[in-house]
Amino acid sequence: MTDRPAAGSWSAPGRVNLVGEHTDYNDGFVLPFAIAHRTHAVVGRRDDARIRVASTFADAPVEVTLDELEALFPSEGAPRVAEWAAYPLGVAWALRHAATAPPVGVDIAIASDVPVGAGLSSSAAIEGAVASALTDVWGLGLDPVALARVGRRAENEAVGAPTGIMDQMASMLGRADAAIFLDCRSLHAEVVDLGFAAAGLEVVVIDTGVTHAHATGGYRDRREACERGADTMGVRALRDLSVADLPRAEQALDAETFRRVRHVVTENQRVLDAVRMLHAHGSAQIGPLLDSSHASLRDDFEISTPELDTAVDAARAAGAIGARMTGGGFGGAAIALTPHDCVDAVRDGASAAFVSAGYPAPHVFTVTPSEGARRDA
Ligand code: ADP
Ligand code: MG
Repeated sequence: MTDRPAAGSWSAPGRVNLVGEHTDYNDGFVLPFAIAHRTHAVVGRRDDARIRVASTFADAPVEVTLDELEALFPSEGAPRVAEWAAYPLGVAWALRHAATAPPVGVDIAIASDVPVGAGLSSSAAIEGAVASALTDVWGLGLDPVALARVGRRAENEAVGAPTGIMDQMASMLGRADAAIFLDCRSLHAEVVDLGFAAAGLEVVVIDTGVTHAHATGGYRDRREACERGADTMGVRALRDLSVADLPRAEQALDAETFRRVRHVVTENQRVLDAVRMLHAHGSAQIGPLLDSSHASLRDDFEISTPELDTAVDAARAAGAIGARMTGGGFGGAAIALTPHDCVDAVRDGASAAFVSAGYPAPHVFTVTPSEGARRDA
């Protein structure tokens, strides 16, 4: 039987995607790593059937009965609850369907040092922390992959953001100094050593401070372009095309859809190449793959911004061995794979480039490949 703690503390990390951007919802490959920035959920059982969520991120807690969860998330339209609370309550809603016995009421207190809306997936962190807590407190015994699916279901169906499963898988499965090579079709995941410390490398994040709007706008549009491309090419998903199919795709598709497809197809190949290189030569060789990923996101997928391009160019000029935008696009952060002794130069170079372009100063920090979701106490 699963141990059912009356109270405890759980946490789950944000993530950085090394390479493999906008491939997840195309059934493709991604190579993210969990970072040391984490969201913590302190959870205690209640004597009644109410669920109360509070977050340092929000002014006021939200409290509903377990029975009210269903009505908060209508199948059509926006959630009937404060946007932030849709994440933890959406996880509770998704998990409730997995419960065989009626779940008990809980108090959930959330605190996080994952920057919100910076492309580091604070959303997967909050989902992972709450899902890990509730599977234990409710005695559901779900494994990390099942909890990743719960997080995605909450984000897609409760919050209404059409994201893939990469973020949740990275947050659940992360390991110190390693990335997760994930096949988003089979959900087969493989831990790939990064050896950053041994290679003297760090990943610098340059957060442009421009917040993206995931649930709307360009992200949905890009997903539709990918679906259109796959339909026209007669495949289930763009994952089923390879670089050798691109000439045929160019004939069959309009110019814009073709560029979207070319990004996804070449990006999948870059992930496979990166994994092969990491196994054979370690992380010092993968820089050019990050550079070409950025060029593809900028020119073919057209989701970069002038701020992200400035960050990438400045990082490269200051000694980074590879750099690219990361996350959904239209703002957020860039990452730069940087030799340890160039980290300060990258920080200063990015800041100076932003000043001279007239952008607000970026937030620059390093991230460390770290452990995934866990119970802390
Ligand atoms: P990202 O995942 O890139 O940080 P998203 O837009 O996907 O950006 O998710 C951010 C949203 O997740 C926030 O606007 C908020 O609604 C919710 N969220 C994230 N972290 C927390 C937190 N610690 N407390 C409450 N809500 C959070
Ligand atoms: Mg997110």
